[in-house]
Amino acid sequence: MAKTRAKKTPRIPAKSRIPAKSRTPNPKSQPYVYLFGKTRTDGNGGMKPLLGGKGAGLAEMCRIGLPVPPGFTITTEVCTYYYDHKRTYPSDLKAQMKAGLASIEKQTGKTFGDVKNPLLVSVRSGARDSMPGMMDTILNLGLNDQTVEALANKTGNARFAWDCYRRFVQMYGDVVLGVQKRPGEDHDPFETVIHDLKHERYHSDIEDTKLTADDLQELVRRFKALVKKRSGHDFPAAPWDQLMGAVGAVFGSWMNDRAIVYRRKYNIPSEWGTAVNVQAMVYGNTGDRSGSGVAFTRNPANGVKEFYGEFLINAQGEDVVAGVRTPEPVAGLKRHMPKAHRELERIRQTLEKHFKDVQDFEFTIEDEVVYMLQTRNGKRTAMAALKFSMDMFKEKLIDWKTAVMRNPADQLDQLLAPVFDASESAKVDAIATGLPAGPGAASGQIYLNADRAVAAAEKKQSVLLVRVETSPEDLRGMIAAEGILTARGGVSSHAALVARQMGKVCVCGASALDVDYQARTVTVNGQTYKEGDWLSIDGTAGKVFAGQVMTAPSEIVAGLLEGDAKAKATEKFKSFQQLMKWCDQATRMKVRTNADTPEQARNAIAFGAVGIGLCRTEHMFFEGDRIDAMREMILADTLAARRAALAKLLPYQRDDFAGIFRALGGYPATIRFLDPPLHEFLPHTKEQQADLAKKLRIPAEKIHQRVEQLHEFNPMLGFRGCRLGIDYPEISEMQARAVFEAAAIVQQEGIRVQPEIMIPLVGFKKELDLQLEVVHRVAKDVQAEKKVKLTYMVGTMIEVPRGALTADEIAQSAEFFSFGTNDLTQTALGMSRDDSGSFLPHYAELEIVKKNPFATIDATGVGQLVEIAVKKGRATRPGLKLGICGEHGGDPDSIRFFEKVGLDYVSASPYRVPVARLAAAQAALSAKRGAEP
Ligand code: ADP
Ligand code: MG
Ligand code: MG
Repeated sequence: MAKTRAKKTPRIPAKSRIPAKSRTPNPKSQPYVYLFGKTRTDGNGGMKPLLGGKGAGLAEMCRIGLPVPPGFTITTEVCTYYYDHKRTYPSDLKAQMKAGLASIEKQTGKTFGDVKNPLLVSVRSGARDSMPGMMDTILNLGLNDQTVEALANKTGNARFAWDCYRRFVQMYGDVVLGVQKRPGEDHDPFETVIHDLKHERYHSDIEDTKLTADDLQELVRRFKALVKKRSGHDFPAAPWDQLMGAVGAVFGSWMNDRAIVYRRKYNIPSEWGTAVNVQAMVYGNTGDRSGSGVAFTRNPANGVKEFYGEFLINAQGEDVVAGVRTPEPVAGLKRHMPKAHRELERIRQTLEKHFKDVQDFEFTIEDEVVYMLQTRNGKRTAMAALKFSMDMFKEKLIDWKTAVMRNPADQLDQLLAPVFDASESAKVDAIATGLPAGPGAASGQIYLNADRAVAAAEKKQSVLLVRVETSPEDLRGMIAAEGILTARGGVSSHAALVARQMGKVCVCGASALDVDYQARTVTVNGQTYKEGDWLSIDGTAGKVFAGQVMTAPSEIVAGLLEGDAKAKATEKFKSFQQLMKWCDQATRMKVRTNADTPEQARNAIAFGAVGIGLCRTEHMFFEGDRIDAMREMILADTLAARRAALAKLLPYQRDDFAGIFRALGGYPATIRFLDPPLHEFLPHTKEQQADLAKKLRIPAEKIHQRVEQLHEFNPMLGFRGCRLGIDYPEISEMQARAVFEAAAIVQQEGIRVQPEIMIPLVGFKKELDLQLEVVHRVAKDVQAEKKVKLTYMVGTMIEVPRGALTADEIAQSAEFFSFGTNDLTQTALGMSRDDSGSFLPHYAELEIVKKNPFATIDATGVGQLVEIAVKKGRATRPGLKLGICGEHGGDPDSIRFFEKVGLDYVSASPYRVPVARLAAAQAALSAKRGAEP
């Protein structure tokens, strides 16, 4: 056990540091180099901003006594300085690096550049989080024609020494001197040299480990010649020059194109900079008692508590991941090197006990002695995250709150999705890719229209509905289908929205598909699939496969929705239930659901919703013959004719509401009155119009005229929302009657009913008042007729800016607000969601918007309107109930914002309810901790 102790150096906390430019140039007071090792470690695991992820991890491992080769970290501040000062270093850096080297020399007994016992080092980049695009690690730095001989003599292993040297020249030549594949070349030039030598001398592609010391020496000679030819310079021989060259290359790589693109994509500010780690080499390539590997403390795919990873005998660095040789599972070490295996097992325990999370680590074994080279929290699937959190709680490594935080909310729906049999999907190649809009796996016979999809499903076929894009008319087909595949449309397209609401597997915008409705075929890359042919889609990965890939439903869905006893007995199911129970303990906000049918409501409640936050009544007008009555109402010329048509709709709506109230079993239901423009209900093709004309016994011309008449240039901002009910109060009257009659019926059955009627698109208090008058009047009538006393509320959606800005006035009349953040985003941004596909992706690339504002609430812009409405609304009516029912209600980032502004509940589509519960619980927990998760 090492006695590690930080030398007390007074340091300014990272956050409050002044920008490099305004810092007073007093280099003496500024530590640029942090040592780590057995004798002294300056940093610790919490210093990622200053030391980078790798440097902080190395320091922390030293502190807990793990065997780490000594070294030092040059801080990220030097990177910032470097770019602020025309690519130069602070004057004191050199001296501090020399002191660092001296410390390594002392601990290893080796000397940098020595011709008897030379110290070799690795130079490793290290941003806060590992970042592709950054400079590759350089190993064995310090070798030249003299030190290589010394290394050979000292170890008595010339092959090893020359193997190190050829690796060094190759890596340094590539990443520092830029000797790389040129345009038009098929192979890496160094690899070409190796290939040629193998064929000259052995006439075949022998393994690298079979190359002799002499072969390797010849490779070094040819590599150096290659470097000279390509770069015009001799390969640097002086170790110090080599070191400074490598350090410069790391800092230089912070601004290379790949790194810049990556940072842009993941929103990493360029001010963060990278650190550089310089570390004594340990050697995995000395022979069969050495090796190198990567491992996880537990299985990151399924979460099982087992030592998981792989290693290669007689290998260095990233040979393991390079795929040149096939590595062996770490369990194999038990046979090869039992002592090293035991040591790694001990380290595995130590890491978990200390970091209290699953670690992903890199190690090297030199002559059976294990060295640690890196550790970090391991990336994991949702399944593994769940199991880790449950197991670690049981092992008392973490408390229940931490367990909740350990499950990424945006990954949770992976657990609910049906799954492809892993062994099956590995066998097939994707034929196209699109947006992963509805997670899960689905296999089915393809159909290109809703009717044929429904007919096929009725014949017990597994159906995949394939469309260019979907519309409300396809709803029946979508319900009948196992999965939905579209060639056009984004995450907020109709197909994606419905898929989420129904928990359907969906890939949308798979643009490689050529969908021919006429021929009833789908063509991809010259291959044509006819209706009835099989395709499979992976809505988690956004992939399309040819043929049938087997699937199975998630145990959680089977257990919760179908009451499947076997599923309920699974560990996955029980863990999920435990997690949700903890969420309820932690949360402040309630989670409701967006549901239009009793079945959706039942599902959502099974997933833990405590009410409906949005019931879109218009969806009830599409099913079966109802659409005919609806169309009759729209086509009616007189009030009397309209009322007659509405009277036909009333029983349908009443039954629907009664079903929903029963399914809710006492939970509240927010019911929105008719919202979409009327033209959406009318048939648009000639044939459909003729068909309807026949049914209603009116001339087709009349239908055509009415459709023309209802045409709007801008339907989103047209005759819709409460504007409909204000012009045609009889519609609202019918809807109110349906709600209250259903409430009376169900209440008389002994079930509590809490209707909350919601008036959409209100921008003026007067609009709401006019509708309120209708609702209260009908309520009074129904209560008198049915001789019951009903409790209900009337409120409004806040979804246009004027509504938000005048919330104080509107709250005089509204008993609750529900933020319709879909329309609020559209109207605040002046951006039509359905038309945003043509420019929004480019906006995201240019970082005009950080995330799709229709998926994650624009907190700085649209969020202000929400905050204003919350403040003004509650000022007028202190107990005002506040919720949100846009798509954002199921988005974890948005939910964090809604927690912050103090909403009472969020409403999400049924299959997003667990995600919302988890996100709401995490938001509450981190609000308490005052920290982000
Ligand atoms: P990356 O960020 O790509 O993981 P690393 O800096 O971790 O790059 O280096 C890659 C590999 O190089 C390590 O996993 C380790 O095997 C090897 N390596 C790095 N430094 C040393 C060292 N001092 N001694 C031996 N091997 C090293
Ligand atoms: Mg690494
Ligand atoms: Mg709306």
